[in-house]
Parts: sequence; C-alpha cells; structure tokens
Amino acid sequence: RASVGPKYLSGLNPEQREAVETLDGPVLVLAGAGTGKTRVLTTRIAHILSQGRARPAEILSVTFTNKAAREMKHRLGQMLGHAVEGMPWLGTFHSIGGRILRFHAELAQLKSNFTVLDVDDQVRLLKQLLQAENIDDKRWPARMLAGLIDGWKNRGLMPSQVPSGEAAMFANGKGGKLYASYQERLKILNAADFGDLLLENIRIFREHPDILRQYQQRFKFILVDEYQDTNVAQYLWLRLLSQAPSSAKAVIPERVDDANYDAQLRVGESGDESSARDSGSAPSAHPGMTVAAAAPTKNICCVGDDDQSIYGWRGAEVDNILRFEHDFPGAKVIRLERNYRSTGHILAAASHLIAHNEGRLGKTLRTEDVEGEKVTVTGSWDSEEEARGIGEEIEQIQRQGEKLNEIAILVRASYQMREFEDRFVTLGLPYRVIGGPRFYERAEIRDALAYLRVINSPADDLAFERIINTPKRGLGDATVQMLHDHARKRRIPLFEAARAVVETDELKPKARGSLRDLVAQFDRWRTQREVTAHTDLAQIVLDESGYTEMWQKDRSADAAGRLENLKELVRSMEEFENLQGFLEHISLVMDRDGGAEEDAVSLMTLHSAKGLEFDNVFLPGWEEGLFPSQRTLDEQGRAGLEEERRLGHVGLTRARRRAMIYFATNRRIHGTWSTTIPSRFLDELPAANVEITESKGGSAWGGTGGYGASRFDDMEAFGSSYTTPGWQRAQANRNRGGGRNSGGRSGGFEEEAATFSSSSSSGPDFGS
Ligand code: ATP
Ligand code: MG
Repeated sequence: RASVGPKYLSGLNPEQREAVETLDGPVLVLAGAGTGKTRVLTTRIAHILSQGRARPAEILSVTFTNKAAREMKHRLGQMLGHAVEGMPWLGTFHSIGGRILRFHAELAQLKSNFTVLDVDDQVRLLKQLLQAENIDDKRWPARMLAGLIDGWKNRGLMPSQVPSGEAAMFANGKGGKLYASYQERLKILNAADFGDLLLENIRIFREHPDILRQYQQRFKFILVDEYQDTNVAQYLWLRLLSQAPSSAKAVIPERVDDANYDAQLRVGESGDESSARDSGSAPSAHPGMTVAAAAPTKNICCVGDDDQSIYGWRGAEVDNILRFEHDFPGAKVIRLERNYRSTGHILAAASHLIAHNEGRLGKTLRTEDVEGEKVTVTGSWDSEEEARGIGEEIEQIQRQGEKLNEIAILVRASYQMREFEDRFVTLGLPYRVIGGPRFYERAEIRDALAYLRVINSPADDLAFERIINTPKRGLGDATVQMLHDHARKRRIPLFEAARAVVETDELKPKARGSLRDLVAQFDRWRTQREVTAHTDLAQIVLDESGYTEMWQKDRSADAAGRLENLKELVRSMEEFENLQGFLEHISLVMDRDGGAEEDAVSLMTLHSAKGLEFDNVFLPGWEEGLFPSQRTLDEQGRAGLEEERRLGHVGLTRARRRAMIYFATNRRIHGTWSTTIPSRFLDELPAANVEITESKGGSAWGGTGGYGASRFDDMEAFGSSYTTPGWQRAQANRNRGGGRNSGGRSGGFEEEAATFSSSSSSGPDFGS
C-alpha cells in the first residue's frame, strides 16, 4: 500500500508519515523520547514547502532552543536538496515573541530597539523599587518578587489581573502594585524582560484585533516542538495565533475549569474590562487562505511527551498537552511507539525509572535496536574523583576512535560543571558548555583581564589596544593608529611605542598627557605587583584605572551586573597562586571555548539537554539532595519528585549507546563539604539493565575493597523491595563504619548532612 512519494518521506514509519502528511487541521503527536517527533516536525515543514502549501515566511515553527532552530533549518536543507531561504518565524517562543514585539514596540510603550533584561538586571531593578518604597529587602527579597512576577507573566497575567490573594503574598499586599511600577520602570528604560516578550504580544493581540488578524493570516501552518513544556502564556499566545482569521470572536474556548483562560483569550478587550468590543464583525479578509477557512482553528501541529515535562517549576503546564483534543476540536492524535535512538538496555532502564511516576499517560516504547551495553552506575569517593573518573573514561572512549562530539555530561545543577571544566583543562580535552553563561567572555571581564594581561606582559598588544581608551581617555583611533605605525617601524610593542611617543610632540598635549599617565600607571602597577597579593592588585587596577568608576557611572540597566561580575572575577583569582598562574588558566579556558565546529565534549544541565542525543552520556551527581534536588522536594513535594524523575528519564533517553550514571559520597557545595546518600532513583532502575562498575578515577571506597562485593549483595534492592533502599542502606553502613575524612573536611556525618540539606542544590538551572 506504500505510496511512493518524495524522498524525504521514505524512511518514515506509517505513523510518522501520517503525522507528516496530515496537513489540515490540528494534529497532536504524543510520543515518548526518541520516537522521531522532532524529525516529524522537520519533515512536515519540508512537505508543506515542497507541496507549495505555504511559503517559508508563512510557517510559524517553535523550537525549544535557538540551536534546535538552526539545526532544523539545516536538516530542511538536506531534505529538500537546497538551502531554505528565510524562515523568519522558526525559533523559540522568546525569539519569535521578541520579533513580533519589535514590530509593534510602540504599542507597548517601547522603542523597537528595546533591551531584553536578564534575571540579574531584573532583580537589580526590583531592588531599586523596593528601596523607593521603603520595603526591607532582607525581609522581602527582590529575588522573591522577581520570581512572583515571572510566575504571573508565565501565566499570562498583567498587573491588574493578579489575584489579590497572590499579590498579598509580598510585602503585605504590595506585590501587585510593585509589579505595576516595575512594568512602568521597564518602559522608561526602554526594556523588556523575558516574560514580556510573550505577554506584551498577548496584550497587543487582545487590544488590537486587526494586528492579531494580520498574524493569523500570515501563519498558514503552526508547528510546536516540546509542547509538554509550554506555560499558560505560551499556550494563550498559540491559541490566539492558531484561530482562523475570521473567527476571532466565535472561538472563545469554553473552559469550565479555568475561567481565567477564557477571559484572556477574548480578543478586542483590554485588561479587565468586561464589555467586549465586537471584533468578530470586522471584515475577514484572508486572501490566499485556501485551507480550513471555516474551521475554528487552523493547521497546528504540536508534538510532545508528558514524561519529559521538566519545566513545571517555571510554570509549564503539562495539562496543555492533555487538553489538546478538547481545545482543538477534531484534532488528530498520533502516537509513535518505536524509539530509534537508544539501545535496549538504556530504553528499559529509562522506562522502568519513569514507571515510578503516578501522574502520567503511560505509553509504550520499544526499540528494534540491539540490547547493547547495560547502563553503568559508578560510585566515587567525592566529586573530584568523579570528575577524574569521567575524564579517564572519556579519554578511553577517545582512544577507541570515537568523536568527542558524541559525548555529553549532563548535570543537575550548573555549579557541578566547574569541576569538569577544570579537569578537562588539565587533561587538554576540548569541551564546550551549552546553554551556560561564559563568564570569561563577558565584555567587562575581558576588559579587566586585558589590564591584567598588559601588567603581566607589556608586549600584549591586543590587550593594550583593548583598554587604551576604556574608560575614555581621549585616546581615540587616530592615536592608536599612530602608535601602531610607530611600533611597526621600530618593531616594538604598542606599549613601548606609547612610552616613546609621549616623549615627543607627535601627539596633541591632551592626548599626550593622558597617554603619559596611563604608561606611568602601568609602570606603577608592575612595581606594586612585586609586593601586593594578586587579588589586591586586581582590585587596585580596576579602581585606579577608572574602570570600576566607568560602570558605576553607567546608567544602563546591566551596569550593576557588570560590577558584580568584576567582583566575582577578583574572587575567582583567589584560587590561584599568582597573577601568572591565573592568566594561564584563563587562556586555557578561553582557548577551549573556541570554535563551535571543533570536536569537543558537551557539558550542560539536564534541562538544556532536552531534545538532544549523544552516543555516550555521563550522568554525574545522582545523590539525594542534588538529584532529586532538595529544593524541588521541599518546595513541591511529590509533584516535585515526579518532575525530578522525569528529568532523570530525559537524561537517560539522551543516550544512543552508553549511559553512565555516577554518584559521589562526598560533595562540596558552595565551599562546604557534605556527605551524601545515593539518589533514590538508583533504586528504581531495573537490575537486569544495570551494571555496577568501579570508578576509574581511583578506588571509590578508599581501598577498603568492599564496594563491588557489597554492592552486588544489594542488587535486588534495585527492585526497591526493601524498606530502606539498598544503596542508602549500604551507604549508611559505610558512614557508620567511619567514612574516610580527608584533609580539610571537618565535622561528623550528621553535621555534614545537615549542612548539605540547607545548602543543597541551588535549584534547577535553566539553560537557554
Ligand atoms: P525527544 O523526545 O528526545 O525530543 P524525538 O521524539 O523528538 O525525541 P527525534 O530526535 O526526532 O525524536 O528522533 C530520534 C532519533 O531517531 C533521531 O536520530 C532521528 O533521526 C531518528 N529517527 C526518527 N525516526 C526515524 C526513522 N523513521 N528511521 C530512522 N531513524 C529515525
Ligand atoms: Mg525532539
């Protein structure tokens, strides 16, 4: 029965093919990890384009990360056999929302060049507001307010729509008012935060039906990846855009359970007003709409997996996926069951783990791949040994001729990365951090480093040129050009050229004086270096050069954040013996971060690993308190635990051929050593698919040798038939036996455990 079709359809199984070819009406692909959901979406776009159903600019396609968007475009090119020109609406919710907002910025009292604030900027702004209101930041932290506002925005709530009970949660009822003044401040600063990128879209769509209609007409097809992690705001935004242009009024969804949704979907009303302006009677011009003009919703295809919903803590509503059929009447729901990614053991382990969750739809996942290697579980003495062990394992994989690109380390919290980075630098292993801030690449850090580099090496022309006029000293391009000429002629470094030039009258008096001062300053700092600790020197340089002051005087929203980064830079120097050692480390780190094309190990959080796949996946830190994260357990109880488990499921299902889990008995968190207990998730793995191995980084148990043997005694506990899970019992025994305490770690077990739970994981880290 197999009909011949375009080449891009040929490899698909019948269900996938149906999902690709059902172009009209709503489609939901509800399927487990690695079943080809993303591939279906990509192929679907190829199909739409090659069938001539829409032009690239008429397809709205939401991916989870910008990188995923780029990848999709690349694959599209491969499928169609030619590069796809212009898919302006292929991107993340944020990037697409931001793009729309820039077109209509004036309707949000912004200019089209508005700045997008990050979390730090947001918190700083809120601090100012709290101060102005005389609210004690200690009692009512700005961060808490930032979290509340974010939560409201994720739920699509404008200041006037915040339920009074919730507004009361902050500063004795001032929460709502503060939210409102925060929004006002943002406009004055010509800035938006991430939440605004969608929320302002929604408001504009609601208040200006004509604009909404434009977009409804433009987007002939809507595609959404990772639908299980959409929040209410994203959902509202999608609902508004997915309605057929003529039917804005007719399709207010009836939602018995949440009246709020309905109110917000009503187009043509502003804010809380209940008198509906009649938008439905507006002319419904939609030339070119050949499909589903009469249908209430148009061609929207969402794909997702309820077992991979991991953003509940940021307001994602897995309900959105469960409600799809109700919200999009006539939707076709397609299930995919064959996993094309992982080998048998990995898939079995991941499925078994997730089966411990109660709130799930449940679905079948099978593979036709080989059983492959079992999932390994390795215990280490501490996190350093863990990093060492993983480092050695990676080197071995590399020796077998495999690509580093096919290796990923997925951590629960971003602070876990530091140790791996240090290890990789020592080993000379190329790596890249995905979705994380690259501290040393920030402009202010590079500036500060440039000063230090010139002190360390007067011949460092690049560094000198970078800061010669930063802060502004009246040494502009002309001066620099002249110094270059001079340096080239005499074959001397730029800095020495400067020293020579200030003795001549080649420069105007003002520039000359300024340059002379700078040269003198560097000479002085170099002398000071001999007698001053390098951290102090760095602080002196930043202050005396006027660099700190430059940012103190800066009025832009991110100036304070830059000042904090500079402090962090000085702090981070403490770990090194001297300036030279520090700079060497930096140059190594910077070097490693090099080209994206380079073959390198990927380092990222579990959260940012969604949708990705690698041959070899390392999963370190499977310890109680870290994973599952204590904070999630404390704040969200059982629901939190289930979300953590889904995160584990996401981690395991990233692996094609090998999944390697690690836990350490001791871990340093924010500078404090703590004794830890292996994660309860280890007990939830099926014994038949798991193998316990020795750490390559050294003996996990300090040479007592009991590890392997006693572990195997506990293997049955994998089935979690014991009251005390096997891992934890074995662990407790060890601790009673007096775990080894190596240098610098103080305190008994209880004490350390207590420290741990109070200072445990700083919560999930969001990558992109
Ligand atoms: P996740 O839930 O993790 O995002 P997914 O459902 O989006 O997974 P994909 O990433 O699309 O899955 O596919 C997983 C892997 O299986 C990819 O390498 C993809 O190319 C491959 N794959 C999917 N469908 C097929 C198929 N019909 N034939 C061969 N390989 C396939
Ligand atoms: Mg996917």
